[in-house]
Amino acid sequence: MKKLIVGNWKEHFSPGAASTYYQKLAKMVHAGQAEVVLCPPMLDVYPVSRELDDKKFKLGAQNLYFEDNGAFTGETSAAMLKGLVDYAIIGHSERRQVFGEDNLLVAKKVAAALRNRIQPILCVGETLLERSEELTSRVVVDQLTVGLHFVSKEDLDQVVVAYEPIWAIGTGNFARPDDVIPVARLIHQTITELFGESAAQIRLLYGGSVDGDNAAAFLSLGEVDGLLVGGASVNASKFARIVEAAQH
Ligand code: PEP
Repeated sequence: MKKLIVGNWKEHFSPGAASTYYQKLAKMVHAGQAEVVLCPPMLDVYPVSRELDDKKFKLGAQNLYFEDNGAFTGETSAAMLKGLVDYAIIGHSERRQVFGEDNLLVAKKVAAALRNRIQPILCVGETLLERSEELTSRVVVDQLTVGLHFVSKEDLDQVVVAYEPIWAIGTGNFARPDDVIPVARLIHQTITELFGESAAQIRLLYGGSVDGDNAAAFLSLGEVDGLLVGGASVNASKFARIVEAAQH
């Protein structure tokens, strides 16, 4: 199966800067075996979609809202993104921690994405405190059980799960194989308990301080199907190196 590499540009680039960055990246990333998804800020999704080389890239959103339309100031719905993006990151730890998103809201967003033919990338992961209190398993199982609550067995293969330990995000302190392997197995086991054997189809990403130097090691673990990349995705040469690691 192709590796999946997702670049989360976070809150970087106005539309003009996004276009300049996209053009630079497109020159450095070569079409190949990996599936590469760019997730620009919402304002940039449409302009980037106009110049996207679909032989190299797919497009994703960093978030969406579950109501199709209405009095929800500042929000952009899955229904509005339908046809424009293939993926949406849902329940990123920054959404959970900075904007107070809870598991139920995340579950509604996952359902809205699927209803609108957008593949949700459901992010799960524990804080440093939860890790030190040995709560990782409980936190991740809760996030999965509630986050996937409205997903049918038939739609499960459309869901991507990203294990992003919060202590590893943007810190340079990336997880070690010993951190990732048990949680990756727990995620598959939990989904199997929830959905039966069809859980085997679900793709699992690792995210947290991935860069050009460590990407290959994560990809060769045999436990993850790709990577969710934040900081390094807004540096064209770093991101191109990560994609290259996934092409091999
Ligand atoms: C992220 O934003 O999902 C992420 C993993 O960030 P970083 O790669 O910067 O740790």
